[in-house]
Amino acid sequence: MAVHKHSKKRDAILECIRSTSSHPTAEWVYAQLKPQIPDLSLGTVYRNLSIFKQEGLIGSMGVVDGMERFERNTEPHTHFICNHCSAVIDVEDMDPPLHLGRQIGCGNVETCILTFTGICNQCAEQSAPA
Ligand SMILES: [Zn+2]
Ligand SMILES: [Zn+2]
Repeated sequence: MAVHKHSKKRDAILECIRSTSSHPTAEWVYAQLKPQIPDLSLGTVYRNLSIFKQEGLIGSMGVVDGMERFERNTEPHTHFICNHCSAVIDVEDMDPPLHLGRQIGCGNVETCILTFTGICNQCAEQSAPA
């Protein structure tokens, strides 16, 4: 059955997203799995990621530099995006600032997703004068 034939790839793709705390692109997942699964196509990766997203198995934090970034964390949370290396980092210990919603009054606020941008610690270290 078609479902069976694809389930091994499906599992590998899902496992790949769940094994990293980074926010990978479809291309990254493809590059990771291609050596183990030589007949894997980028289209299969894209297709499965969009199904996982619909099923709520993985999250997507949006598009950075024209590439959708997927992640294992499906709860709304705060991100930091590096302007230099495009790293997407989950900001821990920060509750969504739902109180800000009281000031906008457009409706009932349920989530507030905040994104910080800047230069990540790693990039800052690399560009610091020695
Ligand atoms: Zn960076
Ligand atoms: Zn995230």
